[in-house]
Amino acid sequence: MGSLAANRCFNHPDREAVALCSSCGRHYCRECVTEHHGRMTCSHCLRQLSGRDKGGKNRLILAVRGVEMAAGLTLLWLILYYIGRVLILLPSSFHEGTIWGGG
Ligand SMILES: [Zn+2]
Ligand SMILES: [Zn+2]
Repeated sequence: MGSLAANRCFNHPDREAVALCSSCGRHYCRECVTEHHGRMTCSHCLRQLSGRDKGGKNRLILAVRGVEMAAGLTLLWLILYYIGRVLILLPSSFHEGTIWGGG
């Protein structure tokens, strides 16, 4: 009765583990592991690895950056617009001397 010492599959407790996942280090049976780039990887880690390869998150970051850039350009345009307006208005106010309190 030394069967308790044997490693069991993480997904199938009733099955004996034959391989160790190189990514998460858990024990798995023959059905649950797949060879991925010469390493034994479980189906769970394989899904995460393949998902990372596709770069689903990068797409979202790019979209957010695009919105930020558009907002930044709009803000920059507004700042330049108001600076331009102030520069146009400034000479007349300067000559009248109203902004300096009249002296
Ligand atoms: Zn794994
Ligand atoms: Zn299994």
